[in-house]
Amino acid sequence: MAARIIDGKAAAAELRAEIGREVAALKANGKPAPGLHVVLVGEDPASKVYVASKEKLAAEIGMNSVAHRLPAETTEAALLAKIAELNADDGVDGILVQLPLPRHIDTGRVIDAIDPAKDVDGLHPINAGLLAGGKNGLVPCTPLGCMLLLKQALPSLSGLDAVVIGRSELVGRPVAQLLLQADCTVTIAHSRTRDLPAVVNRADIVVAAVGRPRMVKGDWIKPGATVIDVGINRMPDGKLAGDVDYAEAAEVAGAITPVPGGVGPMTIACLLRNTLTAYRARRG
Ligand code: NDP
Repeated sequence: MAARIIDGKAAAAELRAEIGREVAALKANGKPAPGLHVVLVGEDPASKVYVASKEKLAAEIGMNSVAHRLPAETTEAALLAKIAELNADDGVDGILVQLPLPRHIDTGRVIDAIDPAKDVDGLHPINAGLLAGGKNGLVPCTPLGCMLLLKQALPSLSGLDAVVIGRSELVGRPVAQLLLQADCTVTIAHSRTRDLPAVVNRADIVVAAVGRPRMVKGDWIKPGATVIDVGINRMPDGKLAGDVDYAEAAEVAGAITPVPGGVGPMTIACLLRNTLTAYRARRG
């Protein structure tokens, strides 16, 4: 039987509408709009598209949305000064520095400089540490999006076997922490994992965050499992493919996210949610 498709596009639209209603209610009560500030350094074409789309979607739901576009030759000191300025500005609720940064800038130093209370990408070591300790500060957007889709797709996550493929700071690790918080039994697989197909075959939930097109095959999936495909891979024909062989997996899985239209749209919606969370935490 073909799997149910988990519609991330619809879920993201719904989430954005919900946040928009909350922003409207704040403004109706005379409160300021939450301020999201995105910093882009350089001319990376994909980053430019992401920043434009974050800027547009935040403005659409009534947030005070500002993009700071800095030239590629911006020094690390100048970028750190910009972050210090945003940290000190009370009207700024969320700061996101679009990655990757040009090579002459130390990414870790830049992330460390962001006020953890405004770190809407959830990458600051304080927020990562809170998550590792089972307490939530600001949680990275893509992992948060994966969890919202899973909670929508499954009546309960408690006790389920979850396998996360990938252990990056951005996706794999935080997803695994969130699944553990949701009482799943979690396995984190990576490039050194032995017999990955057998590991995946035990899972009720598979989260693939690898960056290898169609690596996860249909016969790896346990019948009825829920599959969340985080991968975004540009194919030679210009089309996007996930890390899961969708055509094969959809024949076996119980539910599956498509690429595009699955996890991707949830990432920006969760950025907006984090901005509102940061606003509430800071301004009460
Ligand atoms: P990274 O490259 O940082 O991490 C990839 C992980 O996959 C690593 O932990 C690596 O293992 C593991 N891996 C690589 N090859 C294999 C293999 N053959 N078998 C098992 N594990 C393997 O990538 P990200 O986590 O940043 O991103 C993963 C994917 O998600 C990419 O396609 C990216 O484009 C996409 N993405 C999508 C987003 C969205 O909004 N939907 C947002 C962010 C990312 P090891 O640690 O051992 O090297």
